[in-house]
Amino acid sequence: MKSRFEKRVSLLIIMVFLLSVSMTGCGSKVQKQTATGTAMGTVINQTIYTNEDELTGQVMNLLNGLESDTLSWRIADSEIGQINANAGTEKESTLSKELEQDFNLLKQVAIDSNGAFDYTVGPLVQLWNIDEWAVNTEKEAIIPTDSQIQEVLTQVGYERITIKDGTILLPKGMNVDLGAVGKGIACDRIAEYLKKEKVTGAVISVGGSIVTLGQKTEGGPWQVGIVNPRDTTHLLGTLSLEGEWYVSTSGDYERYVEVDGIRYHHILDPATGYPANSGVCSVTILGDSGALCDALSTACFVLGVEEGMQLAQKYEAEALFVDTNGKQYMTEGMQSYFTEQ
Ligand code: ADP
Ligand code: MG
Repeated sequence: MKSRFEKRVSLLIIMVFLLSVSMTGCGSKVQKQTATGTAMGTVINQTIYTNEDELTGQVMNLLNGLESDTLSWRIADSEIGQINANAGTEKESTLSKELEQDFNLLKQVAIDSNGAFDYTVGPLVQLWNIDEWAVNTEKEAIIPTDSQIQEVLTQVGYERITIKDGTILLPKGMNVDLGAVGKGIACDRIAEYLKKEKVTGAVISVGGSIVTLGQKTEGGPWQVGIVNPRDTTHLLGTLSLEGEWYVSTSGDYERYVEVDGIRYHHILDPATGYPANSGVCSVTILGDSGALCDALSTACFVLGVEEGMQLAQKYEAEALFVDTNGKQYMTEGMQSYFTEQ
């Protein structure tokens, strides 16, 4: 017969055993997996804490699939490719459930930003040849003429396309371009996938969009660096984040050309057809959805500090603006996460 003390000790041992099993998941140890690679035309950095087999490769597969099956406007078979191919045919395209959700959100941001964020800027992006700048910035850029810009602007305007009941319809000459939000959408999809796997923590960056989940085994918050827009080799500061967060930065240093001393960057103001000139050089948005943060960072960049702040607050997102004089403006919430470098 065991004494009462012995029984208590064995009960305690069982409890500690069960607790450690539940913490590590089926007994195997949580390990840190890291990987760096490229997908969706950008650099992907991954840190995942899990007791599963290698997950970083699965994340890369997910990103490549998202690009080729859904987002790429260059691939005719992708969902966006097919939507664009139907422009002007009176044939509505049926959106997949996920893309429908994204479009419903993005349409609202387009409305609330008064078109500063506009997923129909494609024809303008192509006129400016922005994708070419990314491939070869040495190449002499050709700046479009004002009359070319005005002409192409007639093919831009989110209010001219119909999104309803899970379908989308585009007039002739128009197209949809999710270039501004593809990386944020990717963060949403990654989070959705990793939450289904046995992941205790993760931080993944898809270019300028980042998602954090859970926590590190060794403890302490995730540190997300914010690049100094005028000295990209240095950080402006870091955000200390715990749990699930999405961070997106839009800056005029990401992709640009300089012609005759003028910097032309890749965030266009759909109201003018020219690169946005709102007096800011970077905007960082922190919030609870990748697509939303990415759309807001582009919209806020176009709107500038004052109107951009109002837009971010409307969506209960935190914002950090850096103006062209290097001055910083932050929402109160952002201040509580930000530490200057
Ligand atoms: P990055 O791609 O560097 O993360 P953004 O998220 O701000 O930067 O997206 C810029 C891209 O979005 C451009 O390359 C272009 O394809 C597209 N774009 C440019 N201006 C706008 C705009 N006002 N609204 C929506 N998309 C835009
Ligand atoms: Mg963006």
